[in-house]
Amino acid sequence: MSPTLHVEQVLETIKKRNPGEPEFLQAVVEVLRSITPVLERRPEYIEARILERMVEPERVVMFRVPWQDDQGRCQVNRGFRIQFSSAIGPYKGGLRFHPTVYLGILKFLAFEQVFKNSLTTLPMGGGKGGSDFDPKGKSDGEVMRFCQSFMTELFKHIDPDTDVPAGDIGVGGREIGYLFGQYKRICNEFTGVLTGKGLSWGGSLIRPEATGYGCVYFCEQMLKTRGEDFRGKTCLVSGSGNVAQYTIEKLNELGAKCITLSDSEGTVYDKDGFGQEKLNWVMDLKNIHRGRIREYVTRYPQAEYFPGKRPWHIPAQCAFPSATQNEISGEDAAELVRNGCYLVGEGANMPTTPEGVEHFRAAKILYGPGKAANAGGVATSGLEMAQNSMRISWSREEVDSRLKQIMISTHDAACETAKEYGSPGDYVTGANIAGFVRVADAMLAQGLV
Ligand code: NDP
Repeated sequence: MSPTLHVEQVLETIKKRNPGEPEFLQAVVEVLRSITPVLERRPEYIEARILERMVEPERVVMFRVPWQDDQGRCQVNRGFRIQFSSAIGPYKGGLRFHPTVYLGILKFLAFEQVFKNSLTTLPMGGGKGGSDFDPKGKSDGEVMRFCQSFMTELFKHIDPDTDVPAGDIGVGGREIGYLFGQYKRICNEFTGVLTGKGLSWGGSLIRPEATGYGCVYFCEQMLKTRGEDFRGKTCLVSGSGNVAQYTIEKLNELGAKCITLSDSEGTVYDKDGFGQEKLNWVMDLKNIHRGRIREYVTRYPQAEYFPGKRPWHIPAQCAFPSATQNEISGEDAAELVRNGCYLVGEGANMPTTPEGVEHFRAAKILYGPGKAANAGGVATSGLEMAQNSMRISWSREEVDSRLKQIMISTHDAACETAKEYGSPGDYVTGANIAGFVRVADAMLAQGLV
């Protein structure tokens, strides 16, 4: 059977077997279609039914999370952990706490994570988890009780050699602290079972910065292929959480100007840019006071606020979607390109719809897909695991230089692979194929498991 036909048949089966999970299908379609050229060279993957095995999670755990709110009322949420692939290492991937979380979102994230982790070349399998719990508007006490209840089930399924969760949307240092505390209490073990920990209890320097910094390092390499750098470039950034904040910090350091930030309610546009002082104010607003981004214009009245809008209508040369999936539609992508944008670095996971991706690819702009561009977060989690195992802590410079090196080699692997398979400059194809081959070869070597 021809590889193209094989892929389409596998996709048909997946559509039937995973109804009501559009995000998962979107992620699978993109990966499977782009690895077709590999199947032509390596028919043994078809023989061993690697694709059919790869799209089926090794294990899915779903559980009830009961907790008590500040009024003494009982609340019930749903918890998940998707252990997608352990072919090249223990399951690794974040936890997301957001009301939109359901099985299909976490399966898409876990599936993407498998290839992303492979691309880093560190020994990490892929997983993802979370809950439909919304930390927004909850007191610290409520968040703590929720996290303790969540871990009271999750601890049965994780340990440092099996599955090592981290943060994602809605799960930052505070949540990781409560989750780690409960794991330690139940298991009576102080181990590196979670990453993103605080510095005084096993965390790594640069982990909070890693996804944003890493994305900028990746994009710096893309620019280099055209003999350019970030000096004087104007950038749009969406989101205002962890990834957005550190993307701006690194872009500022490299001489770029970032003019937007957003959250789920709207976009702030500051034409003078978010310099370090303004960024510090935003970090305080979001990380300490847990406020909304619209409050920025009260403090800095020269800035504009666009309620209900995303940043993509504002002209700029570079765009860093750093909020959530499918936040750049086909129309947004067309408008970005029309307005002169020629670099997109995805800090978020799958932030561009398939129509948007087509626009970027057709316009031949520098487009760094999340799977490659935001791999710095999990790579530094891998470095945190290594430090925990050795019971040592590396300096800020040491971790940062390892992160940078990993992003350079991730870029080069995607870039070289794209060339090798006849699609120079296509980082989507390059990243998917490079990530896929390592996992597929490990699966072949390990037999039918
Ligand atoms: P945070 O929770 O710190 O911030 C998320 C930001 O995105 C907030 O500004 C939030 O606004 C906004 N956002 C969330 N959901 C939506 C939505 N449905 N529509 C519009 N805006 C939304 O998360 P992170 O910064 O950690 O994560 C951002 C993205 O980066 C995610 O896609 C995540 O998967 C990805 N990522 C994160 C990594 C990490 O290390 N943290 C690693 C790799 C990828 P609001 O407050 O209104 O919800």
